[in-house]
Amino acid sequence: MPEHQITEEEVRERVRALLKEAHPDKTDQFTFRGKQFDHGLAWVHFPKGYGGLGISPGMQTIVADELHRNAKTTYDDMAINPIGIGMGAPTVLTHGTEWMKTNLLRRIFTGEDIWCQLFSEPGAGSDVAGLATRAVREGDYWKVNGQKVWTTLAHVSRWGMLLARTNPDAPKHSGMSYFLLDMKSPGVDVRPLYQITGEAEFNEIFLTDVQVPADRIMGKEGEGWKVAITTLMNERTAIGGATARRGGGAIGVLVDLWKSRAPAMYSAAHETVMRDRITRLYIESELLRMTNLRARAARKAGNPGPEGSVAKLAQAELNKRIWECAMDVIGGESLVYEPGFARRRPAANDHPSRLLQAKYQFLRSRANSIEGGTSEVMRNILGERVLGLPGEPRGDKDIPWKNIPRSA
Ligand SMILES: Cc1cc2nc3c(=O)[nH]c(=O)nc-3n(C[C@H](O)[C@H](O)[C@H](O)COP(=O)(O)OP(=O)(O)OC[C@H]3O[C@@H](n4cnc5c(N)ncnc54)[C@H](O)[C@@H]3O)c2cc1C
Repeated sequence: MPEHQITEEEVRERVRALLKEAHPDKTDQFTFRGKQFDHGLAWVHFPKGYGGLGISPGMQTIVADELHRNAKTTYDDMAINPIGIGMGAPTVLTHGTEWMKTNLLRRIFTGEDIWCQLFSEPGAGSDVAGLATRAVREGDYWKVNGQKVWTTLAHVSRWGMLLARTNPDAPKHSGMSYFLLDMKSPGVDVRPLYQITGEAEFNEIFLTDVQVPADRIMGKEGEGWKVAITTLMNERTAIGGATARRGGGAIGVLVDLWKSRAPAMYSAAHETVMRDRITRLYIESELLRMTNLRARAARKAGNPGPEGSVAKLAQAELNKRIWECAMDVIGGESLVYEPGFARRRPAANDHPSRLLQAKYQFLRSRANSIEGGTSEVMRNILGERVLGLPGEPRGDKDIPWKNIPRSA
């Protein structure tokens, strides 16, 4: 007999049952989210026992909606543990060992263990398969040496997703393996890198004779690229596929700014032009939001395909235009960057006013078309995997990695 399909109303009932057992307004984050995981409401498309119910990922919006209706305190996954929840969890579920699934998933969701991603290197970003960090097997351990860069949240992370070269004689894509790295291991040196915003949300990492136990490999030895693709596809969906409520997120800030400043600052003619520009951005935001909702509802349980890359491209480019428009709305004042932006590690979204938030986001949004794969690389994926255009020439694909000329 086919398994009973859980309906929307049943999902709502499950949320109400959860709230009777633990309420976010009355208990702390770890306790509440731990219970949410146990009820299968963390990520509903995951299997039962791993924080899910094995149903369509689209049902997660029902969980969020029911929580919003019944509690003042709501949690944003992407603020709590963006890399752990967005990328670590699906990677562990797809390629992790039973120990990893049982011991790591719940703590990722609660936010007890923050995660980071150690892929990029000084000589390998878009072409991450060209990476040079080496892992050499020594008995029960892999010994790792190398350098990673742009590692978001590494300074607060418990676990890292580490991609390293285990066979330099193989072609670049087939000589890598994927490891779960304990960020507290001896030999892991994390140093801050400051961005144009003044914040250091990411780091450079030096790995010197770091010992990784042999059973901390994800997937098989030499098949790290396959595992990395799972991480990357989920990263793009996490960045591009986030769906704020209608009129919320960046476009909401822009509209608020406009309402509070327009009458005082603009001539009637200029106001008409700006109004038109903001309306267009609003329509584009709404189109993207609805496209993401449709893609999520249509997706069966499992890992996302190229739609994540398309959403990421659209989101990154739209976000930049929204914050550019916000600077035009603010006018000359946008050139002043307040002293509150001294160099620091990022706290949560603690920018006090819409004005400050817009200035910060204008600078931060430049990174949107770089992080998680650049817009040019997203267009390559769109061209090849969605439109079926011929791939770009890849002359180094089949030769041993050690024979590929390198600059770093
Ligand atoms: C805010 C932020 C957070 C990040 N967090 C992490 C993290 O946590 N972990 C991690 O591992 N990495 C992280 N990254 C790194 C990010 O993934 C890389 O910066 C990105 O993939 C680009 O690599 P690169 O900087 O080496 O640029 P390059 O790959 O050197 O690219 C330089 C330019 O060449 C273009 N280009 C390159 N190849 C092609 C091609 N085939 N076709 C067309 N154009 C091309 C690019 O689009 C770009 O404009 C982060 C980056 C940022 C900005």
